[in-house]
Amino acid sequence: MPTQKKNYHKRYIGDHKLHAESQMMGYGYDPALSEGALKPPVFMTSTFVFDNAQDGKEFFELAYGKRTANEGEESGLIYSRINNPDLEVLEDRLAIWEDAEKGLSFSSGMAAISTCLWAYLRPGDVIVHSAPIYGGSEYLIRNILPEFGVESVEFESGLLDYTLADALEEGLTKGRISVVYIETPANPTNGLVDLQRCRKLVDAIAERQGGHKPIIMVDNTFLGPVWQQALKHGADISIYSLTKYVAGHSDVVAGAALGSAEVMAPVMGFRTILGTMCDPHTCWLVMRSLETLKLRMERSAENAAHIASYLRDHPKVERVHYLGFLEEGSEARKVYDQQCLSAGSTFSFDVKGGEKEAFRVLDTLSFIKLAVSLGGTESLIEHPFSMTHADVPDDVKTRLGITESMIRISVGVEHVDDLIADLRQALDSI
Ligand SMILES: *Cc1c(COP(=O)(O)O)cnc(C)c1O
Repeated sequence: MPTQKKNYHKRYIGDHKLHAESQMMGYGYDPALSEGALKPPVFMTSTFVFDNAQDGKEFFELAYGKRTANEGEESGLIYSRINNPDLEVLEDRLAIWEDAEKGLSFSSGMAAISTCLWAYLRPGDVIVHSAPIYGGSEYLIRNILPEFGVESVEFESGLLDYTLADALEEGLTKGRISVVYIETPANPTNGLVDLQRCRKLVDAIAERQGGHKPIIMVDNTFLGPVWQQALKHGADISIYSLTKYVAGHSDVVAGAALGSAEVMAPVMGFRTILGTMCDPHTCWLVMRSLETLKLRMERSAENAAHIASYLRDHPKVERVHYLGFLEEGSEARKVYDQQCLSAGSTFSFDVKGGEKEAFRVLDTLSFIKLAVSLGGTESLIEHPFSMTHADVPDDVKTRLGITESMIRISVGVEHVDDLIADLRQALDSI
């Protein structure tokens, strides 16, 4: 790979800007460097041969930050824990969706999340975060970070910004706030956090901390990158479990983080040392998935809209937590209109009754699979109270509205009539 960005990084035809979905087949890859192969080969190599000793020296100088890069200069390839062509092409393509300067890929969503947090938290620091968040992130913040001297303060998503303002005030009394960590929409409640409002509040905090700017990290797994671009609304880092919608076939585990070159530089440094990067073969699979990302997310969202309406009208269903049903004129609706481009395709609903009725529905389904995870081509359904959110204390679950009668569905790309037929016979069983 050359050290200069070349014409395979073209974003425009004249002054026409190419769309992200059109760039997923070729961007960032030069066939001439790989025997004319239309698609990037999988570069299964641990190390790279330098042309000469001077090149090797210069690559290391840049990789280890011993000098700043000259205009347009990028580090050459050294070793696959630091970088690899498949990682680079994938990262360039991921970055396009959010117009990010820099993308980094990781071995899992949790590898992305933890590496970003290690890069920006130090003993004595405070992390302010929304709740509920993904179980793994919650465990890391609640149980592991305190062992390294990092305290946390949480606020509930869905109740909107005044609770965030309260949490920031509380955080300031505990120490230096270095990270504000947000998951929006929240899982499984679909509660929203106003990212633009968050940006303003955090900028004001920076002034009160002698200029120390908290980094806003947004777990954008649920709607991103097609339906929500967190960076455009004030996030410093947009984080993904690529395992979900982006890879989208329930067959790989991977993660990513996007942001400005400046914000991502320390994350890259930590990734190199912690070794949390993605492997070339997984990168290749995610690149294949990216070619159909928009098609898949569009189809799933269309199916989900039909299913949400079907469930809302069903006599055995108490409530449907679907973003498309937010009340016109409500605060939540305003936030949704401002930062979300669609309601997506993962949502929850409460059946009438409790665990018994919810389990009956889950066990009576004959086509939709009972499994955790989401964002795949196939529809998956699960019981948050006893499965994905089993670890959350019962009183917290009650406060957040995660009930025993709640069922979460991740709607896939199947024919929607088949999904509704299966849900109908399952709901008829209670
Ligand atoms: C799955 C998930 C993660 C963790 O991702 P892995 O790839 O399983 O490590 C983080 N955040 C959200 C919102 C998720 O759904």
